[in-house]
Amino acid sequence: MVSFPSVSYAQWRAQALSVLLLRESPDGTPTERFLQTIWLHQRLRRDGLVTGDGRAIRILHPGFWNHEAGPDFRDALIQFNDDFPQTGDVEIDLHPSAWHGHGHDVNPAYRGVRLHVVWAPGSAKPASLPTLVLQGQLDSPLDELRHWLGVDTLLPDSMRGRCQPLLRDWPDASLRELLRQAAEVRLQRKGQELAARAREVGWNQALQEALFAALGYKHNVWPMRRLAELLPQLLDSSGVPDRFQLHTRLLGVGGLLPAELTRSRPTVDDYTRRAWDLWWREKETYDAIALPERIWRFHGFRPSNHPQRRLALAAQWVVAGDLPQRLESWLAAELPPAREPSKLMRVLQGQSDPFWSWHWNLHARRLARPQPLLGPQRVTDLAINVILPWLRMRAVIGANHPLQQVAEQRYFDWPAAEDNATLRLARQRLLGGPRPRFFRTAALQQGLLQIERDFCQQSNALCEHCPFPGLLDAYKDDHECGAARGSM
Ligand code: SF4
Repeated sequence: MVSFPSVSYAQWRAQALSVLLLRESPDGTPTERFLQTIWLHQRLRRDGLVTGDGRAIRILHPGFWNHEAGPDFRDALIQFNDDFPQTGDVEIDLHPSAWHGHGHDVNPAYRGVRLHVVWAPGSAKPASLPTLVLQGQLDSPLDELRHWLGVDTLLPDSMRGRCQPLLRDWPDASLRELLRQAAEVRLQRKGQELAARAREVGWNQALQEALFAALGYKHNVWPMRRLAELLPQLLDSSGVPDRFQLHTRLLGVGGLLPAELTRSRPTVDDYTRRAWDLWWREKETYDAIALPERIWRFHGFRPSNHPQRRLALAAQWVVAGDLPQRLESWLAAELPPAREPSKLMRVLQGQSDPFWSWHWNLHARRLARPQPLLGPQRVTDLAINVILPWLRMRAVIGANHPLQQVAEQRYFDWPAAEDNATLRLARQRLLGGPRPRFFRTAALQQGLLQIERDFCQQSNALCEHCPFPGLLDAYKDDHECGAARGSM
């Protein structure tokens, strides 16, 4: 029998990543693929970016990673100085000379490129194309980013992985321990990301940005994060507004106020009119920072995840102004594990709202019954991806070991999140099937996602070059030898 008492997933990960990185980057300079990962996660000092020709640049959306031929990222949304944001592709290379050297300048597929992102500056610039040098503009040292981000590539298809026959025979207790350790790595990584951002903008602003981003679900993460980044400006001009004012300001700046009335839904039209009455007076003040409506995606999510409604809740948090303190009190309170999620739900749940408790968005008809502004599944996502990593990292930095332990305990006890396509695919590849009763906690799901990220995303559908099966084999051999020696 294989047990798993002493393996360190963190060591496995470091070992595997260093092999991958060294293979691709013998002299220690970042590889293009690693730069693409940094770009994807926007691990930059986002508030002070300047192009090679001296223009301030804001990345409103990094674009969609293109794994086919052509530019590395498609449809990014970029703002230079105070100009109108423009949509365009982004090409990432190590040096500016690659633009000509790789023939991008004569390749029609690169005509839509609006920004050349490079690692280091150089004398050869692509004609009339702005260049952004990443060196010196990252939010953390390169080694730290290497450690946490690794290298990302294609998502695998639905084939069973080479590790699956090995993992299939592992007893539940051993598998649980492996996933627990992988989840711990994930918790640390998320905390490190929050800490890196907190160094730039402070802990509370870092929390707000991460919460807004999480409310964007997977489709609207970037515009939600951008609105949170703008909060200091939105709150500056006239002190803290009331929640209707702030929500309207967020909708206005976000380009989310409907241009036309429905003419068929009086309650919706009444709300839209009131919002526009307010926004007309403020619009000019915020024109320079407004986002275009096209930055949002309005399909592929449940009605409750509509950004107009998510921003209603976010505005309540900001206006109340005490969310960080309430989260800290929640962590400090002694609670039986079964009550932790419902207590957090109470902290996060906004007040019922005469309009937003009854509407999914500014087009939909009134609901038959009021709906809470936040459901239990979103609370789990926020807890696992933002709140517990944030609270734990604060405790780590403050050397508050008891509170760190509480945060970790809650993370590992938290009930499982809703299933999704990424989890299903990871279970299929690594474990060969659903194992429905096994994944009872969110941390086990997070551990699986971390392995998928650390190993599956470095390989391809054939699991080529993946070191994970070798690590499993070596561990099993070592342990069985050790067990045999012990029984002699
Ligand atoms: S890529 Fe590696 S970790 Fe992923 S399924 Fe294949 S062998 Fe397993």
